[in-house]
Amino acid sequence: MSSLLERKRKAVIVGAGPVGCLAALALAKHGWNVEIYEGRPDLRLPSSKVASQQRSINLAISHRGITALEAVNPAAARRFLQDAIPMRGRMIHTLSGELDSQTYDRDRQCINSIDRALLNEGLLDEASASSDVQILFNHKVTAVDFDHKFITVQDNTMDYSQEYIKDEYIELKMPAGRNVDGQPVFLLDPHHLHIWPRHSFMLIALPNKDRSFTCTLFAPISVLDGLRTPEAIISWFHRYFPDALRAIGEKVLVNDFMKNPRCPLICTKSSPYHYKDRAILLGDAAHSMVPFYGQGLNCGLEDVRVLSALLAQKGVAAATPGDVATSINDVDERLASALSYYSENRHQDLVAICDLAMDNYVEMRHSYQFAQTHLAALAGPT
Ligand code: FAD
Repeated sequence: MSSLLERKRKAVIVGAGPVGCLAALALAKHGWNVEIYEGRPDLRLPSSKVASQQRSINLAISHRGITALEAVNPAAARRFLQDAIPMRGRMIHTLSGELDSQTYDRDRQCINSIDRALLNEGLLDEASASSDVQILFNHKVTAVDFDHKFITVQDNTMDYSQEYIKDEYIELKMPAGRNVDGQPVFLLDPHHLHIWPRHSFMLIALPNKDRSFTCTLFAPISVLDGLRTPEAIISWFHRYFPDALRAIGEKVLVNDFMKNPRCPLICTKSSPYHYKDRAILLGDAAHSMVPFYGQGLNCGLEDVRVLSALLAQKGVAAATPGDVATSINDVDERLASALSYYSENRHQDLVAICDLAMDNYVEMRHSYQFAQTHLAALAGPT
């Protein structure tokens, strides 16, 4: 009995996204031995960078995500934040080009634009550096038998309830401008999240460190289907986003629009999140949400913080070498109890934030009454 307990507990994580990596680091901190199976190649390899179709270039990380990163690895959290650009408010762009800055917080709290790949790569570096974490890339998990602790891996799909919304998104680059000395400059205020609300669709832009912006156009599939030619794309942008079109430039716009993938928006809800003492779903696997609240990843990182605290609280982490007074069954029971508690108590919060994210799409698209007024004027009398 004691020799079993002297071996480290082993955890298998499916997916080396940011949440999987942070979970691996948290479990390793609790004394577990962790294997991560990732279906894709290592995204740090130059060949992966070219092929990679990450879901967005940058994303907003908030207090929720930062607290979770700090709880597991404060030094890494500080490093990530050094590369982030604080956005202190949102900037609404009306059709006529007026700007309305709306500060997020009186006390200057903000969200932070961070390069998604840098964050994921940083977390992969941290996980790879841990002697208790092994990452197997190009290993897609195709089946799991939780009762017999058996995983089937394909060297080189989990189907369940997912809702596709009727809109898709496409990413477009707004290149940096140049000042008189030829240095790159931001074409918009970098300390805002820029929004062009246009009722049934919208454009947003987040700043990047190289002084470009990544713009994301969210629109119904039927609208995007109508934008197939350079002429149609330019004329549509000219009509609805004239200031953004000037900043992006017609050539860049058409090139990105025709080349970049159109991506679906998926909303996942599941319950419970665990299976006995064997498995737990974290991050997007448990609760992918539409990105309009900017909280998908933040919530996934928070899952790790919450679970990690529960493992410590329920004494699961204590079952490491030397803890000979505890039987394996005791530890399995504590683990089952921690996972069950997580499922029951986390569900309400996750459902709430998924719903808030969906509601915020409506709010963001309509967030400036002028937009509607101008659209009505454009449409002419009915
Ligand atoms: P992922 O990043 O999806 O990683 C999962 C990993 O698992 C992948 O590498 C995948 O290859 C691997 N995998 C999957 N299945 C298997 C398998 N069977 N076997 C092996 N490996 C597998 N969130 C925010 O907090 N702020 C934002 O501003 C924000 N903006 C967004 C903008 C857009 C346009 C979109 C689409 C999303 C945005 N999000 C944002 C949400 C955020 O991207 C996700 O919540 C986050 O990436 C989830 O991280 P994850 O690690 O759970 O999953």
